[in-house]
Amino acid sequence: MKAYRALLISLSKDECNIDYIKRLISLTNLAYRDYEAWIPDLPKTMQHQLQNFKSYTKSLVFGHTPKRWFTRTWVPLTTLRIYGDDFMKGDRSALVVLEFRNNVIKLRQVCRNEPRYVDELPMPRWVVDRVKEGGDVKFAMIGLKDDKPYLALVAEREVEPYQPSGYILAIDVNSWGHGIAWGLIRDGRIVSYKQEGLNLGRYYGLYDEVVRLGREYGELMRSGLQRTTEGRRLWRRIKAMHARLYAITRDKAYFLASKLVRKALKYRALLVIDDMSEESRKELLEEKLPPGVIKLLMSSLRRFIHQLETLAQWYGVPYEFKRLPSKVCPICYHELTQLPGRIMACENCGFKAPRDMVPMYWAMKKEST
Ligand SMILES: [Zn+2]
Repeated sequence: MKAYRALLISLSKDECNIDYIKRLISLTNLAYRDYEAWIPDLPKTMQHQLQNFKSYTKSLVFGHTPKRWFTRTWVPLTTLRIYGDDFMKGDRSALVVLEFRNNVIKLRQVCRNEPRYVDELPMPRWVVDRVKEGGDVKFAMIGLKDDKPYLALVAEREVEPYQPSGYILAIDVNSWGHGIAWGLIRDGRIVSYKQEGLNLGRYYGLYDEVVRLGREYGELMRSGLQRTTEGRRLWRRIKAMHARLYAITRDKAYFLASKLVRKALKYRALLVIDDMSEESRKELLEEKLPPGVIKLLMSSLRRFIHQLETLAQWYGVPYEFKRLPSKVCPICYHELTQLPGRIMACENCGFKAPRDMVPMYWAMKKEST
């Protein structure tokens, strides 16, 4: 099985000509639709890359679950890898060259339509780590995100998932608002269990501030003052705070995904991930959170699950998605009643457990089947 991981590197706007990249993006679109267009004033090597694009898109973009930014057509490029001992792998005419001996990435004619133009970037630690894990950065892409130029590196690795040892690591993502809950299960027993929370206090505080500033900005706009120094400053502040809001949940999502995949690896456990559904949204709605917060939490939840899946594939951790309900009795399938303190009880068979533990009992059922 081939596993992929991608890294985005922002390119400098001064080094990269946005209009040039836009032209390459339209050419990629054409190539993708099977049109052959040769543009006289564009580098031939670049155009050859685009014409050959069909033969490697499958392994690059469309062969696996695309990331959101893959949906816009980025310009796919092959790479040449030069290792410390001058051993070379890849396409000699590639425009993206990864030089491991001096730790730089050279972009030839990727950023500007000038003959022999080379942009040099430091080699990200990420690449070195992926190579150490047996991966290979065969492909790269350039594209725009919010009108800013980016280079995406795609590492590929051939990996077979291991045979689970008998441990199950169940992950319940139903309520990001309460964090996520995980349980390590073995022989019908919960060996360890933890709830990993977000620091929601800080989160809400920041969110309220963004809303308040947004209103202030709305006032300025109504008075036609948004282009004043004050208006621009306010806008920049709102944008920065918004970015921070995203960063909090994003960092947490990446941190937790990596921690849990490492845990699964350690025990050679089967990863059972709760099939995130409407229940998460409903639970967040129940808590009467503002729609903006729900939207942010849901999007970071999806990011968390995506990252979990990407890492599990990369490290060969076997995983499956399974509904792990928290409101249905895992013994007799009767609907559970919620008691004070988030305790769930079954009126039919007497089963009782904290709400966030119920999914672990569902995961345990998996063990016996
Ligand atoms: Zn029951």
